[in-house]
Amino acid sequence: TISMLAIDQEGNISGACTTSGAAWKMYGRVGDSPIIGAGLFLDNEVGGAAATGLGEAIIRTAGSAMVVELMRQGKSPVQACKEVVERIREKHKNHKDMEYLQVGFIAINKQGEYGGYSLRSGFNYAVCDSKKGNRLEDAGFKL
Ligand code: ASP
Repeated sequence: TISMLAIDQEGNISGACTTSGAAWKMYGRVGDSPIIGAGLFLDNEVGGAAATGLGEAIIRTAGSAMVVELMRQGKSPVQACKEVVERIREKHKNHKDMEYLQVGFIAINKQGEYGGYSLRSGFNYAVCDSKKGNRLEDAGFKL
């Protein structure tokens, strides 16, 4: 999954999300990426969030919409991503495939603060910042 969030000079938030879907998926499966609120959610009064990882887990928690709602309540982008990841971890703790479960979110708020958080390592995101330069940031491995 490749998701992108952006903020312009006037503070307008935009985003996009694309995916090949899960490996070995059943024919006709719809993952989280094309579902607004799951793989991507934007509210121009608050910010935006986007997801990668096991779509079923992200859909069940309305993951990206939940991240934005937590930012609306005052959480930072990283705190909001972390809270949803931890909720997903808790919900799946007895799941037979828990050891393979990965979910990750990125988020940006109206102030231009951003962050990400993932359940396991291997989740990096790129930041393109015209003032501070471009870089890769690690949002992974918080077990
Ligand atoms: N989120 C995608 C899906 O479940 C898969 C991925 O992130 O690679 O369809």
